[in-house]
Amino acid sequence: MGDVTFHPPLSTGFGLPYVLLHQLCHMRRAPRNDINEAVEALYHLHVSVVGSASGRHERPHKPILLLAVMDLIAQGKVTPDHVSWGQELRSRFSVYFELVRGSNDQCTPENPFLYLRQEKWWTPFQQDTKGAAPLEATPTVGQANANIVFAKIVAPVANWLITPADRLCLREALVARYFPHAREAVSRLFLEGSVQETPGAPEPDADDTYAHPGRSAGFRRKILEIYDCQCAACGLRIKLPQIKDLTFVDAAHLIPFELGHNDHPSNGIALCKNHHWAMDRFLIAPSPDGHWQVSATLVARRSPGEKELLELKNERVLKPSEPAFQPSEEALLWRCKRLAA
Ligand SMILES: [Zn+2]
Repeated sequence: MGDVTFHPPLSTGFGLPYVLLHQLCHMRRAPRNDINEAVEALYHLHVSVVGSASGRHERPHKPILLLAVMDLIAQGKVTPDHVSWGQELRSRFSVYFELVRGSNDQCTPENPFLYLRQEKWWTPFQQDTKGAAPLEATPTVGQANANIVFAKIVAPVANWLITPADRLCLREALVARYFPHAREAVSRLFLEGSVQETPGAPEPDADDTYAHPGRSAGFRRKILEIYDCQCAACGLRIKLPQIKDLTFVDAAHLIPFELGHNDHPSNGIALCKNHHWAMDRFLIAPSPDGHWQVSATLVARRSPGEKELLELKNERVLKPSEPAFQPSEEALLWRCKRLAA
C-alpha cells in the first residue's frame, strides 16, 4: 500500500522535477476539451480483471504498452501514425511491466499490441507485398525483427501524443487510474527530452492544479458504472436514461485526489448528493468492517437531517460486486480516522 502524503519533486530520468511536469501538464492551451476526451478514453481501456482474493487485479498490459509507446514517440523513434512492433517497444514494455506486474501476469507485449484494437483509436496492421492489412493475430518476435507490423493511433488520443506537455497529461492519467501505488517508481521511468514552457502560456489556476476535467469525468464514469449509479449509503438510484450521464449520484474519492493522486476505482465510492456532502465533512464514513460510522458531533434532536445521518450508523456499505473495485482498506481507514469527533 502506498502512502498518502505529498511527494517531493521526483526525477523524470532527465532531471526535470516532476512538480514542474505536473504544472506543465495542467497549463491551459486551447482547445482542452479534446485532451479531456483522450484522458477519458484512457480511463476506460478494456482491461480484464483476473486473480482471486487480494491478488485480484486489472491486467496492466494495455496501460503499460501505451507508456512504452509514449517513450518511443518522445525519442522520435515512432510516430502515432506508425508505432512499429519492434524490439525497442518490447524492451520498454518489460521495464514498466517488472514494476507493476500482479500475480499471474506474464510479460506478453504482443497481447496488448493486438487487443488495444478494442479501443477503436488503435489499429494494428501487418505489411505484406500488397500493402498493409489489419493484423489478425498477436504479433511474433520474428515479426518484431522483420519490422513488418505496426499500429496506427487516431483521435481522440493521437493529437495529444505529440508534445511533451500533452504526453505527460496522458501519462499522469494512466498512472493515476491504473498504477497509483507505484506512481513514483513508474514516473521515474518516463523518457522525455526537454519540456519547454509555451511562451506566454497562462499560469495554471491554483484551484485547477488537480481538477482535470477529463480525469474527473473518467473517474466518475467508472465509479457510476461499477455501482450502477446507486448511493453506497442509502441505496438511492436516480438515473434519467433519456439524458446522457444525468444521475443524482456522485463519484466521491475516499482519499482526496490531491493527497493520493489515486483514481483507481478502489479509492472511490458512489454517493448521493446528501451523503457525498456529509462524507466530505467527515460526518459519516464507510468503515473497513463494511458498515457506516457516524460522527459523535451529530445530535438527533437538533434537526431531522442529523437524525437521518445518525440512523446510518452500522448500516451496511453497499459495495460493487467486483472485488478488485471494492474500496481499499487503506482508503476506508483514512476516512474512519478522520470522522469528526
Ligand atoms: Zn445516499
